[in-house]
Amino acid sequence: MNKKSSWIDIDKEQNWHPYSNIKSPGPVFPVVSANGAKIQLADGRELIDGMSSWWAAIHGYNHPRLNQALLRQSKKMTHVMFGGLAHEPAANLTQLLTQITPCGLDYVFYSDSGSVSVEVAMKMALQYHVGQGDKERKKFLTFRGGYHGDTLGAMSVCDPVTGMHSLFNSVLAQQIFASRPAVKFGEKWDSEDFDCVRTLAHENAEELVGIIVEPVVQGAGGMWFYHPDYLDALGELCKELGILLIYDEIATGFGRTGKLFAAEYANVIPDIMCLGKALTGGYMSLAATLCTDKVANKISSSEPGVFMHGPTFMANPLSCATALESVKMLLESDWSSKVREIEKQLASELAPAKSFNSVKDVRTMGAIGVIELTKDVDMNSIPHEFVNRGVWLRPFGRLIYTMPAYSISKHELRSITTSMVEVASMHL
Ligand SMILES: *Cc1c(COP(=O)(O)O)cnc(C)c1O
Repeated sequence: MNKKSSWIDIDKEQNWHPYSNIKSPGPVFPVVSANGAKIQLADGRELIDGMSSWWAAIHGYNHPRLNQALLRQSKKMTHVMFGGLAHEPAANLTQLLTQITPCGLDYVFYSDSGSVSVEVAMKMALQYHVGQGDKERKKFLTFRGGYHGDTLGAMSVCDPVTGMHSLFNSVLAQQIFASRPAVKFGEKWDSEDFDCVRTLAHENAEELVGIIVEPVVQGAGGMWFYHPDYLDALGELCKELGILLIYDEIATGFGRTGKLFAAEYANVIPDIMCLGKALTGGYMSLAATLCTDKVANKISSSEPGVFMHGPTFMANPLSCATALESVKMLLESDWSSKVREIEKQLASELAPAKSFNSVKDVRTMGAIGVIELTKDVDMNSIPHEFVNRGVWLRPFGRLIYTMPAYSISKHELRSITTSMVEVASMHL
């Protein structure tokens, strides 16, 4: 390649972007900086960000307190291996996480991405059953319409259609899929819709390791909000069958749905819970898998006596220190009123889209606003529609959605909702 190429050309020619064709990558917008709710493009344009970088940057970009926390830690120690060594940032973060998550999730395993935290959760559940002398169990049950990550284990429990299972069929573990929860959040609970899950679970009872779900909000699998009574029913079912309940709160954690964790909408405590995305306020790559004493004790008191996982960058001190500051900032703030205000504004400003022929549904929950179209968006033209309107949104499938930073101003959010409604109206 030409040594004089600009970084933008190098990126265009040689960098793979998420779910992209490297020979023909489609629209990609070079960014030079980001501040608050704004992203500065290399061509001088400024965008109001409605994505919070895949739902992670909940405090906005370039926050002085997070910058400070990162800088302070970088002067002490940027990294040491976690095998045989310990440090204060990880311990302090663990103390805080186990205080604020559902009671009983007392043990924390750190990893570097959400997908890996899901792999860890699945391996913990498998090792739990091996520890019980139950080596036959190998399957997980989940809802269709879910998303749990892109590694092989995580992908095996993603929605089989949007997760492209056909492409990887030969190597993917075969899991059990119940239909997507039909009773929406806010609707009247109908226990009949749970019958299919119960039947499937009973039919496969001997083989089941556990049930893994995103509580209340299915994110990247379809932005679907379902009734929390499913969770209570899942909790009972797991107890009845002696299997484990895993919550993937990677998207829902840290206030996004209006509760600090979506688990709080129901009365069950999961055996295992995954956290990621907003954990560090969008600064660093960090994820965590929490589990109860029941799980930790079984794994530790049976052969081989250790939990078999250990990432190189496990509990990276820079990531842990930043996460600690981000979670503290969240708890010190009035995040709950802020998320409620965002919810109200999204509901009222997206409502006009309900009357469009191009729109199937408009739904909002917490700091999540979704316009579901009747047809898939065109991923070659739609990014330009938003960038030309001065906002950053990245729709997928039939969904135009926003999950902004909680620190976004009313005025900035208004620009996002206005452009969402305008673009939705064009898709006739
Ligand atoms: C994003 C996401 C993941 C995967 O996290 P990565 O950090 O991208 O690996 C898993 N589960 C849910 C619910 C997610 O939203």
